[in-house]
Amino acid sequence: MTKRVGIIGGSGLYHIGGLSNKERRKVDTPFGEPSDELFIGQLGEREVVFLPRHGRGHRLLPSEINYRANIWALKKLGVEWIISVSAVGSFKKKIKPLDIVLIDQYFNWTNGRQHQTFFGEGIAAHIMFAHPVCESLRKILYDVCLEEMDTSSVHWGGTYLNMEGPPFSTKAESMIYQSWGVDVIGMTNMSEARLAREAEICYATLAMVTDYDCWIEGDSDAIVSVDMVIQNLNKNAELARKIIQRSILNIPQERSCPCASALSKAIITQRDLIPEKTKQKLELIIGKYVPS
Ligand SMILES: [Zn+2]
Repeated sequence: MTKRVGIIGGSGLYHIGGLSNKERRKVDTPFGEPSDELFIGQLGEREVVFLPRHGRGHRLLPSEINYRANIWALKKLGVEWIISVSAVGSFKKKIKPLDIVLIDQYFNWTNGRQHQTFFGEGIAAHIMFAHPVCESLRKILYDVCLEEMDTSSVHWGGTYLNMEGPPFSTKAESMIYQSWGVDVIGMTNMSEARLAREAEICYATLAMVTDYDCWIEGDSDAIVSVDMVIQNLNKNAELARKIIQRSILNIPQERSCPCASALSKAIITQRDLIPEKTKQKLELIIGKYVPS
């Protein structure tokens, strides 16, 4: 099967330019419908699959996104790497609007959001997740960011707090999160990172800063407004396209990172007790470890 690169576009990024031989594909999954049809196309030598996280026209709230269907659909189309583009608010003065953070950690602060795993229904698996981002992919993105941007605007590493939303934080929440020492806040990436690892897909976040959340005091220009977020989203989208187009050319054909075998020791259920129905349902991701 062709080894493709997946791109999940966040707020502001609903299409990517430069794709040739474009084809739109509706993908069915055992977990329901993805956010939208997926776009398959060619960027240079590489085949890529693009999915707008919130659907075209931005129709889905973070809590309404069918994360399982999205990651499943990408896996089904042969995706081995996912570049996730994500709009975030910053908790650090040095992480400025329009900067990029190459996230290395996520912190789950959703309200018990459902469906952040493919497992259950008679099969238990626990993936290792101390390092939730693919280091090889993160480094590829970082190197391209450094070539495209001022070095003080690119941040190697950072913790992404995944809030529930859809409202932005209250000031009290924002100040508490900031006191925890996290770097940025968003509403979607934790769920995707978990599912991508379960599906043995490399995953890395290009966190594009739109604002300072609302912890910052005094400087009225720095305080978050929806207008400012939207303006910065549009500026970020252009930059994201450029970085993606260049990064894709640096992604190797063969993987040497541990993401590719994340499930090899993770499935703990005694094999003969896994229900046949569940085996068949999950064949795409567990087939090489649990033949049905
Ligand atoms: Zn990897």
